[in-house]
Amino acid sequence: MDLGISGRTALVCAASKGLGKACALALAREGVQVTIAARGEATLKATAEEISTLTGQPVAVVAADVTTAAGHDAVLAACPNPDILINNAGGPPPGHYQDWRREDWIAALDANMLTPIELIRRTVPGMVQRGFGRIVNITSSAVKDPISVLGLSNGARAGLTGFVAGLARELAPTGVTINNLLPGPFDTDRIRKVVEARAKKEGRPFEEMWQLRMKESPMHRVGAPEEFGAACAFICSSLSGYMTGQNILLDGGAYRGTF
Ligand code: NAP
Repeated sequence: MDLGISGRTALVCAASKGLGKACALALAREGVQVTIAARGEATLKATAEEISTLTGQPVAVVAADVTTAAGHDAVLAACPNPDILINNAGGPPPGHYQDWRREDWIAALDANMLTPIELIRRTVPGMVQRGFGRIVNITSSAVKDPISVLGLSNGARAGLTGFVAGLARELAPTGVTINNLLPGPFDTDRIRKVVEARAKKEGRPFEEMWQLRMKESPMHRVGAPEEFGAACAFICSSLSGYMTGQNILLDGGAYRGTF
């Protein structure tokens, strides 16, 4: 299927590894000119080279903390007029609500709510002018199915989701769509660290806990990042113009609601 986005430009945040990287790779495969951002420069450069080799597309890099004002300026200086914006950042740490103070909440809001909103604010006018835009926010299945130890994530991402629900309808006549992709468990560094912590806490081997994590899923496996990237590329395609304001779960059937 030709997704009809060859030659478009994309800014993919938090994309040296994991889900962001998978989105960047899937877009580059479609001939999109991708700029990827992350903090660690060495991994970022290696990822850009890997994507370039696999796709034959040049990939630009910007080493920046996307959750800061300086980071917003840096990523937009590197890719000033993206047709496609993938909002992503690391998730907040787990914990207990009694321990979270204002500064913990502000950090979570900066990373997982206010940064995507700021990048949307600054990129949408150009997209509207060009009559085409695709924005995908990587959030979490926890938006629909909250995980109490990830309360900072549940709260901050729900704020972003509420904002996007309104803005997507406002932008509907312009050719700019905004959708959220909600990952359940995917095989990335992040989930491996979570399982590692669980194994340590329970004094059991990692491999045993990993197998247990797989069994907890209806598909008895976690998602492959390529599956996430493919869904993202479709939402960014010229074929998906009728889909906006949606929260799309990619969780292998883990969420048990009928709707
Ligand atoms: P990952 O494999 O750990 O990769 C995270 C990527 O984001 C890395 O490239 C990292 O590079 C970059 N990054 C993190 N903080 C950043 C910042 N402040 N500025 C710029 N880049 C930053 O994580 P992932 O599994 O892909 O997760 C991506 C998002 O999906 C997270 O918000 C996570 O909470 C959410 N999520 C993941 C899962 C899952 O199962 N994987 C499930 C639900 C939700 P640097 O560290 O070098 O900056």
